[in-house]
Amino acid sequence: MAVNSGWQAPSQAGRFIATLAAIVIVAWGYMTIPSGCETEGAVRSRTALPGSPLEKNSTGSSTAAPIARVDGATDVVEKPKTPPPLQRPFPPTSQPNIRVRVAAVRDEPVQLTHSSGWLWLKGENAQSGRTFRSPVAVYPVNDGWRIVEAFGTTQADNYRLKEIGPLQVRAPQNSRGDIQFGGNAYLGNVNIVRRADINENAADLVFVVPLEEYLPGVLAKELFKGWQANTYQAQAIAARSYAACEMEWWRNRRHYDVVAGQASQAWVGATSDAKSLDAVANTRGQYLVFDGRVVPAYYSSCCGGLPSSAVDSIRDGTWTQITPLNIADKGRRTMCCEKAPVAKWQASFSISETVDRMNEWAKQAGRKDLGPMNGMKSFVVVDKNSVGRSMTFLITDKNGKRFTWDASDFRVALNSGANGSRDSLKSSALEPRIDGGRLILDGRGYGHGAGMCQYGAEFMAKSGKSPRAILERYYPGATVVTMPETSSATATSSALVSSPKP
Ligand SMILES: [Zn+2]
Repeated sequence: MAVNSGWQAPSQAGRFIATLAAIVIVAWGYMTIPSGCETEGAVRSRTALPGSPLEKNSTGSSTAAPIARVDGATDVVEKPKTPPPLQRPFPPTSQPNIRVRVAAVRDEPVQLTHSSGWLWLKGENAQSGRTFRSPVAVYPVNDGWRIVEAFGTTQADNYRLKEIGPLQVRAPQNSRGDIQFGGNAYLGNVNIVRRADINENAADLVFVVPLEEYLPGVLAKELFKGWQANTYQAQAIAARSYAACEMEWWRNRRHYDVVAGQASQAWVGATSDAKSLDAVANTRGQYLVFDGRVVPAYYSSCCGGLPSSAVDSIRDGTWTQITPLNIADKGRRTMCCEKAPVAKWQASFSISETVDRMNEWAKQAGRKDLGPMNGMKSFVVVDKNSVGRSMTFLITDKNGKRFTWDASDFRVALNSGANGSRDSLKSSALEPRIDGGRLILDGRGYGHGAGMCQYGAEFMAKSGKSPRAILERYYPGATVVTMPETSSATATSSALVSSPKP
């Protein structure tokens, strides 16, 4: 062990705890329907609300038992001190690295493994690192990190590192295979970042990955296996453009650019899916641009024939007010996906359950204008967009008090109290009615409905349309540019590994 590395030897207590421990990693919210940037708008528009209902996982239960969870649309939303940049980015001329938060670990260790049987760890400010036997469990503690090597085995050993900064984890040099977490292999390097703003036992697991290596794992999870190659290529360009904008948006404001889940875009990590790898390779360096800058190419699963403008459903206010993200003319994109299984659906909730969820969300979000309501007398649509998608609801309670809800807030409120996906709303394109003590909601589509409709793209691709034709339809006025990679030092995940042999 290097003298100056800051590592402290195993303790008896640590050995005891380590051998005692056995953890289960639960992968939450695995979606069977393409998800696409699903709740980014809701997340962004509520960044000022730490402790909001958005912390709750919309697809899992919120029981205490688990564990290091894979990111869904969830977790505490940071409140960056600095404002976002005013301008969208120019398309990059060299391949950037994207920081992907794979898990928000709260009160449980981060458990990582590598097929070589070793992992190399280093405190950000330490002069040197150290190699540990895999699996390794990492616990944030008040003044640093506790590391258990050979976690869960009889050889488990316990170490302490005084380090307030992030803990870097690397695969051993010249080793094959990626670092594994929660049963998945992820590309790139790992930073474990403490989240003292939440509590002393909280940390985020962030993988740093070259953008072109990140994208296949997005496509593999965002699209169905049987879908057209041209859909995959259109999705690759949209996902790349979206990612580039997120990187610019968050660069100096947060320790990750995207999450590996619905709140950004899904990410499976490393993938061998040929269709996904080919689509990314065949569109390498291609970005969607408008006025010379990259378009934050939001997309969602299915617009249900009722697309939304980004200014309505994403609402970050600064980057979305551009032609490609807003509905240009009525009917332009309607009925693109009418044969999709999620094009039309119905949900129903008891009035009391509905009111409870709305009141709870309004309370947690600090929205005194939205509650508390005393029961519900009527629920009507008072505003629709140009293609007929419900935008605003007016709800009158039993006292005759009126509350005006954005449709997207209503969806978030209902889903924040949902117990599983069957119990939640797929979109905010809703036609409500009250019938026999229940709220009946006729819904359309899945997701926010802004930008590309994935089902619509697939129907276009099936009818022979090119990736560019698909993108021109869903982002009117935007064009695709191919950026030459001027930097010869383009990083790959293997090149990023600079750790010693065990
Ligand atoms: Zn559609």
